Amino acid sequence: AKANGRGSFAVYVPELHEQLSERRQLEIDMRQALKANEFFVLYQPFYCVKSQTICGYEALVRWRSAKRGIVSPADFIPLAEETGLIEEIGAWVLRQACTDALDLPDHMTMAVNLSPVQFKSRKIVPLVRTILAETGLSPQRLELEITEGVMIGDQVEALSILKGLKDLGVRISLDDFGTGYSSFSYVRAFPFDKIKIDQSFVRDLGRTTDSLAIIRAVAGMCSSLGITSTAEGVETDDQFHILEAEHCDTLQGYLFGRPGPLQASDIQTGTAAQG
Ligand code: C2E
Ligand code: CA
Ligand code: CA
Ligand code: CA
Repeated sequence: AKANGRGSFAVYVPELHEQLSERRQLEIDMRQALKANEFFVLYQPFYCVKSQTICGYEALVRWRSAKRGIVSPADFIPLAEETGLIEEIGAWVLRQACTDALDLPDHMTMAVNLSPVQFKSRKIVPLVRTILAETGLSPQRLELEITEGVMIGDQVEALSILKGLKDLGVRISLDDFGTGYSSFSYVRAFPFDKIKIDQSFVRDLGRTTDSLAIIRAVAGMCSSLGITSTAEGVETDDQFHILEAEHCDTLQGYLFGRPGPLQASDIQTGTAAQG
């Protein structure tokens, strides 16, 4: 350790140094990836319990890196958020998803995840407005998934942005419900169109009776408030039948389809969709 002018010490920690440069490299690679078109979107279907059909998709971003292989969002979104790159990546995903949604039947919706960082920038409302205008997608077919993170900080500001988005005619969905600290107060503060019960509750269905009680309560609250309830992470028939019995409106999970290309049977245009 070496004394620096003010009587404190600058300590060289090799691990920290390595971590910093790996992050710096990741940032450089992400910037490059935007230019090289290395990001792509996979779509995971929503199953509607009432109609027993697929009623929409959620867009999930991936990075096909020449150097790193396929990188999952958990591994690059946090740094993209810290560096502000999420603005550009998020805008690209939104435009791509809205464009791809045009190939789907009119009754199907397209859900897109918004990062709290992207959400808090004053640009999100004009961005969504522009992309809707550019693509011609009807606003009620677009669902924006946000998390409690958007409410941290200035709540008045957050509510005003949410209202700005709602005024465009899009739907707002509250993702990962139940994982934060004040989920219920947000439901009271803002009229969400949809609540997505976090997959941890579905995963625990067979193991604890608490999860069932919570899912029942949330689905009941949604139905009283006129909010669509969704459960995510449905992998087994047992989970499916329980969630159906609890009157969840829509379900999502590997049981109904993994993230992938839009299913050919759902794409209207072109002869490839026939048969
Ligand atoms: P999320 O929005 O909660 O998305 C659900 C995640 O669970 C997805 O992981 C999905 O592939 C996975 N999943 C779906 N069904 C099942 C299931 O039955 N079992 C299990 N074990 N997992 C299931 P993915 O695609 O790796 O995305 C992870 C997270 O990254 C997302 O969580 C979301 O927070 C974020 N993310 C993904 N795409 C975007 C994006 O375009 N923008 C932003 N801001 N975040 C994104
Ligand atoms: Ca989501
Ligand atoms: Ca989620
Ligand atoms: Ca999540």
